[in-house]
Amino acid sequence: MMLGIVGGRVYDPCNGRDGEVADVWVKDGRVVEAAAIDRERAEIVDAAGLVVMPGGVEIHSHLVGAKVNSGRKLRPEDHRGNERVRAGAFRSGVGGTVPTTYVSGYLYSEMGYTTIMEAATAPLVARHTHEELEDMPNLDKGVFITMGNNHFIMQAVSEGRPEMARDYVAWLLKATKGYAIKLVNPGGVENWKWGKNVSELDDPVIGYEGVTPRKIVETLAWVNEELGLPHVPHIHGINLGRSTSARTTVETMKTLAGRRAHYCHLQFLSYGEGPRHVNKGEAAAVAAAVNADPAMTVDVGQIVFGQATTMTSDGPLQYSLHQTAGGRWMNDDVESESGGGIVPITYKRTNPVNATMWRTGLEIFLLVEDPWRVFLTTDHPNGGRFTSYPQVIRLLMDRAYREETFAGIHARARKGALLPELEREYSLYDIAVITRAGPARALGLERKGHLGVGADADIAIYAEQDDKEAMFAKPRYVFKDGVLVARDGVLVAEVPGRTFYVAPPYDPAIEDEIRAYFERAYTVAYENYAVLAGDVAGAEPVACG
Ligand SMILES: [Zn+2]
Repeated sequence: MMLGIVGGRVYDPCNGRDGEVADVWVKDGRVVEAAAIDRERAEIVDAAGLVVMPGGVEIHSHLVGAKVNSGRKLRPEDHRGNERVRAGAFRSGVGGTVPTTYVSGYLYSEMGYTTIMEAATAPLVARHTHEELEDMPNLDKGVFITMGNNHFIMQAVSEGRPEMARDYVAWLLKATKGYAIKLVNPGGVENWKWGKNVSELDDPVIGYEGVTPRKIVETLAWVNEELGLPHVPHIHGINLGRSTSARTTVETMKTLAGRRAHYCHLQFLSYGEGPRHVNKGEAAAVAAAVNADPAMTVDVGQIVFGQATTMTSDGPLQYSLHQTAGGRWMNDDVESESGGGIVPITYKRTNPVNATMWRTGLEIFLLVEDPWRVFLTTDHPNGGRFTSYPQVIRLLMDRAYREETFAGIHARARKGALLPELEREYSLYDIAVITRAGPARALGLERKGHLGVGADADIAIYAEQDDKEAMFAKPRYVFKDGVLVARDGVLVAEVPGRTFYVAPPYDPAIEDEIRAYFERAYTVAYENYAVLAGDVAGAEPVACG
């Protein structure tokens, strides 16, 4: 199979291409040199005047697994009006805030995305997560494994045995076919099992002598480096949504100063004390901390006005959110490993808290100076649906649209806002960085996020329009591994995806200790726990070191 995309304006930041007219040649699913192509036999796409970018790379989204399923069940009304009826060989399903598996693959693909990361799965339910990923076509994938409240790791921290944590983490990543270390409210989710939380980095974790959120973060950052994982520790810090979050976020960043780390959905963690119990947006302080340390990356978790379904391992957060939001919710516990909760929510322009969150997210995007270190997410479906990305892109690229939307938000959220003074408008190059090149680099995915020789032929081609939302909502062509999968925003083909995982080496002596631990602590047998390579279709290891 040979393909040439000729004469397009190529935005490929990894290779320094900022809209220059160039051809992209593809053979057997990879980008190749022009010389490797027999032009007589190649299929040619005339891209004259069109914008050519690598396929989108999603660094943080909740799409599959136990809590996402619970979210689907909790919100039957979410499905109404979002049905997608079977068309030809394509599966039916529903969209809404928590789309079904096939539909998630279709929707990402129709928007020009070709790689996604499932942002959180508890190790115990990883097999289910992988089974759902297999049902999500047209995307390459990976899974982050939640470890910030894991009993075995906290025991290792308590005993002052970081090597034990390291070997266990390596074993756990292999056993779950995971891609990265995820932390969610370290220590706080464990304390929630006792009806409590943590509020400071040095608060004690109940039942684990000497263990604190800070020690968990430091240990897992050290483990990440020791194992040479392609991604960095992916951190959802303590105090999400609280008026102390900006302070503890900056303190967490300082704890890991100079060490590589990713801080996810930062918008939710950038608040201070405001008048009348409405959090004050602290985008400036948090963005300054990001700007000061080139070793860190962040994603924003922008909220979008409208329906959302919040779902996170952060059980205590969800309890307090439920107290404010009212209505249905659910709480979850994963033995020895994690917790969680789900709360449906509607973000309103006229709600001062929601409106403050909206403008704080945009302020972070505009105040973090280096686009290579700030990525586009809505923490789907927490801040909004991933299908809202084109709208967020328009807000970043179009200052007039931003001002118009800002004028319609609650007056208390406008007061003290930095947004009106921020003149910056993202360019197409910047958008290619925050949605493709940057996330791929932070994830250590060498064949993703660029169009250089050797890259996977994941390519999105857009017709430029003044309305950037319309432009990014319906790409003219989307190719996955060189196969045309969507045209004019409509799915035309379904191809299987890969699942990237890591399997760093470890001292096998740890297995005896883990086996004994399973007999003491788990309802599941050690032998039944691991996800085997054969259980994951398209499994592809990514090198560590
Ligand atoms: Zn998340």
